[in-house]
Amino acid sequence: MPRPVIGITCSRSVGGRWSDYDLGHFLEFAFDAYSQAVLNCGGAPLLVPISQSKNSLTVISSRLDGLILSGGPDINPRFYNDDPHQGLKDVDESQDEMELELTRQALAAGVPILGICRGLQLMNVAMGGTLYQDIASQVPTACNHSPRADRGTVTHKVRIKPNTRLQKTFQRSNLLVNSKHHQAVKAPAPGLVISAVASDGIIEALEDPSRPFVLGVQWHPEGLWKTDVAARKLFKALVTAAGKYWGTD
Ligand code: MN
Repeated sequence: MPRPVIGITCSRSVGGRWSDYDLGHFLEFAFDAYSQAVLNCGGAPLLVPISQSKNSLTVISSRLDGLILSGGPDINPRFYNDDPHQGLKDVDESQDEMELELTRQALAAGVPILGICRGLQLMNVAMGGTLYQDIASQVPTACNHSPRADRGTVTHKVRIKPNTRLQKTFQRSNLLVNSKHHQAVKAPAPGLVISAVASDGIIEALEDPSRPFVLGVQWHPEGLWKTDVAARKLFKALVTAAGKYWGTD
């Protein structure tokens, strides 16, 4: 059974036993939950490291059948023409540059994209949208979107908008999600529509109705796919779209 290749973007970190022998090097990593979700939903997961050039990303984007923009640190606000807010946390500009370039190339080529958490925000910034840099201080009426709970624990509810890809994928109008973010979409990019919101008004999902599959969610389906039918449907939808893209490539 052929499996479409799904790229998963990496984050960077210092530390870890392997790097202890040679300080000054980073780990380029993605949590195995992403790879396992892709694998179990019929795709072939492939990690995309941050160490890239524009040419290298052109080659990679031309070979991917689908792309997951994974969770990670805050995006440098300069990429959406904002100054750093007091609540801004860790930023990795190399990761921003790699993911923004890869996203633009994937969009240009029509590669199906699933953005998760930071990935939703990255997708929005790549297409011209803006972010809240810190929900708690910039939207004081919001609920806690980053409770101290593991990734498999659902906390707040989201309302799925009717007649969206997300609604067609889940076949339901609301969902309990595992929320682990302190930033959020402020202004959606031109061309992106809101497909889910939390009860406090925070945007929880965006999609591009003009493209076969460009969708981002603010929660972490990779932490839920083993037990949650809706999370599984999301990865299946990406793999299905990637299979179709592959077939027409
Ligand atoms: Mn949330």
